[in-house]
Amino acid sequence: MSIDLQEVIARIRADYGAMRCKLMEVCGTHTNAIRRAGIHRQLPAGIRLLSGPGCPVCVTGSGYIEQAISLSREPGLVIASFGDLLRVPGNSGSLAEARAAGAKVRVVYAPQDAVALAEQHPDAQIVFLAVGFETTAPAIALAVRAAAAAGLANFSILPSLKVLEPAMRSLLAGGGLQIDGLIAPGHLGVITGAAGYAFLPREYRLPTVVTGFRPAELWLGIAALLKQIAKGESRLENMYPQAVTEQGNLAARELMAAVFAPEDAEWRGLGTVSGSGLGLAQAYRDYDARCKFGLAEIASREPAGCRCGEILLGRAEPEECPHFDAACTPEHPVGPCMVSAEGSCAAHFYYRSRG
Ligand code: SF4
Repeated sequence: MSIDLQEVIARIRADYGAMRCKLMEVCGTHTNAIRRAGIHRQLPAGIRLLSGPGCPVCVTGSGYIEQAISLSREPGLVIASFGDLLRVPGNSGSLAEARAAGAKVRVVYAPQDAVALAEQHPDAQIVFLAVGFETTAPAIALAVRAAAAAGLANFSILPSLKVLEPAMRSLLAGGGLQIDGLIAPGHLGVITGAAGYAFLPREYRLPTVVTGFRPAELWLGIAALLKQIAKGESRLENMYPQAVTEQGNLAARELMAAVFAPEDAEWRGLGTVSGSGLGLAQAYRDYDARCKFGLAEIASREPAGCRCGEILLGRAEPEECPHFDAACTPEHPVGPCMVSAEGSCAAHFYYRSRG
């Protein structure tokens, strides 16, 4: 079915031109796609788009980075990480700086690459930085299971995996988050199923639309949300059925349930949210770098003046931060929201002057 995008945009402007509402997306890929397509500029002025806690790099506390840095200095130990994480500021610097000073930090593109490193370097301890949401967790679970099956004693992960539902509940509890509709991430829905978002309209009366990442998919999702809001409805609509089924990927969820166990997790901006993280299940505890190397917790500290925490809660816009496009740029990020292209500050920086 071909869609006349200009007609969709014109209809939104005609039907909802006077509407005042706040829509939140909770996915870094959505944040980037919305800004890149200039959707924020083409919507009626009263419709605001906010970014929630959906960029994995952004919500990772600086204490976690600090733990990784301290591990990276251990003799015979190699940190394996996705590239974005290297530039995230910890309390005392970044992994990139630690690497420049001689620490062994390797960029990998998949968790399985870290397992391969462990196989190739039996004399080294390989620690994979396990950061991400339900979208990334199944691949990390597979890697841990593969390492266990191969009897690799020199592989472990430093867990900072998060699940969205407890964080959204924490945000919405007691009316703490004032939004009118949620743009729910399609790729997370591939795992959780559309059913994974049903609690939002059912328990919080929050209109929720699951959508994809192309401009047409985003515009149609926003149009559906606005229609619900205008009619006073709060329903779950799956506008991405080509990828998101009702129940999602059961095999991936079973794998996650076998390898991981819920634990409390720290979120930048939100603090510690009960049961919002994934640690390793008892059977896989030997692969938890925190136990293996006796790591102590390290308290997180926001960089001075950085407003990432407020931005992740939809309480501030990147442009309201005094460092934005001054001390803080994608080349020299002060805070995590400027590091990854999926971070709200980076997306605002890159696409601020284009419509
Ligand atoms: Fe933090 Fe930089 Fe964003 Fe300011 S612009 S909130 S310092 S990441």
